[in-house]
Amino acid sequence: MTQVPIVCAPHPPDWPVYDREAIRAASRLIAEGRTFDYARGDEIARIEDSFAGYHGGGHALFLNSGTSAILSALLALDIGPGDEVLCPATTFVSGITPVLLAGAAPVFVDGDPQTDTMDPEAARASIGPRTRAILVTHLWGHPADMPRLMNLADRHGLAVIEDCSHAHGARLGGRLVGTFGDAAAFSLGTGKMISGGTAGMLLTRDRHLYERACLLGHPRQRSRISVCDPDLAAYANTGLGGNLRGSPVAAVLAQSHLDRLDKLIARKRANLQRLSAGLSGLTGIEPPWTAPEADRGGWYGFHARFNPIALPGATREGLICFMKSAGARVAPATRLPLHREALFRDFRAGCLPDGLLPMRRGVAPPDHVPYCPVSDSIFDRTICFPAGVFHEACPELVDEYIAAAQAAVETFSQRAPGMTQSLRARFSRKHVKTE
Ligand SMILES: *Cc1c(COP(=O)(O)O)cnc(C)c1O
Repeated sequence: MTQVPIVCAPHPPDWPVYDREAIRAASRLIAEGRTFDYARGDEIARIEDSFAGYHGGGHALFLNSGTSAILSALLALDIGPGDEVLCPATTFVSGITPVLLAGAAPVFVDGDPQTDTMDPEAARASIGPRTRAILVTHLWGHPADMPRLMNLADRHGLAVIEDCSHAHGARLGGRLVGTFGDAAAFSLGTGKMISGGTAGMLLTRDRHLYERACLLGHPRQRSRISVCDPDLAAYANTGLGGNLRGSPVAAVLAQSHLDRLDKLIARKRANLQRLSAGLSGLTGIEPPWTAPEADRGGWYGFHARFNPIALPGATREGLICFMKSAGARVAPATRLPLHREALFRDFRAGCLPDGLLPMRRGVAPPDHVPYCPVSDSIFDRTICFPAGVFHEACPELVDEYIAAAQAAVETFSQRAPGMTQSLRARFSRKHVKTE
């Protein structure tokens, strides 16, 4: 397919990006040999206090990853062998594997057709006698339907853990994600909007839960400082076996993002709303839908969808291929809905290789086979745009992405094959035609 290059403006560097002050703060720690912290030094105390403060209070525990935050929450809630945890079919795998580490069984729940976050009705249908908790992801920055999920949890006596790793600063009805459930886990690593390279945060209003989580991953000094419950304090010296401490170097890097989180969200929102508005005028590629009462945050991912009914002449792969050769960094979704992954499939079937997860020995897998047609269908139709580059104002780049999508749609539409006159006129000044 020969075609006109359409996306020509430079892409900003992929997130995370650190300002000079953050780099100086990290360098200072390295120069002083302060690359670890057994206690609760200034850097750790500051990020925990400001993180809790941003969320209107509660206890924040800084950890070495989002995965550790989820594991801490599960174990602190006493979830283990014999228990089932409702999990979304679509999320990052490390959001769910801690359920297996805890010795419990994940039960996958289908997504809502618009956002692919956990569908409360499907969740209700998945509750059984062994269900103990709901572990829900605010997917790609869109809050899950927390009022209905909390209501469900209340009626059935379930704990709720929010995985906010995609959605720092997202709100539902004005209320921040991470403040609905019993505990919230945030990845503060990789390309997440608040990133210390590798780090995580546990947030909870439950002091007892916080102290148990602290004991799990922060033996000695830190637990002596933070664990006050007399029933737990005796174990501060040993902890409970984990080392889940975050580094102060990661803390100062993440702090630099947290300090300007609202500004970061606003800038990314401006770009991605412009992209959404542009795509919404096209037939066959649909921008991500946002509920009227929701404010996306974090923006970890911009997943548009191919609509094969609206554009019967096209395939998703064809559209992506066209846009890529026009210079757009688009891609199909690559992470399978988790109920289809070998680990969870074989776990459910009871045929994990010997010794792979010894803590699973003798624990019955969930009774029913998950059926998640909504998440499956969304996965097959997803077109991922590179959300990680849209963190600084770049309206020209956004417009070129829209134009690339428009050209792809027009090329595949049966009514008007090839590029339209308007597009030609728009780009012929800047770009060389090669067809
Ligand atoms: C990134 C991520 C995690 C894991 O966080 P790490 O910091 O990489 O351990 C968990 N859940 C979701 C939804 C994530 O995106």
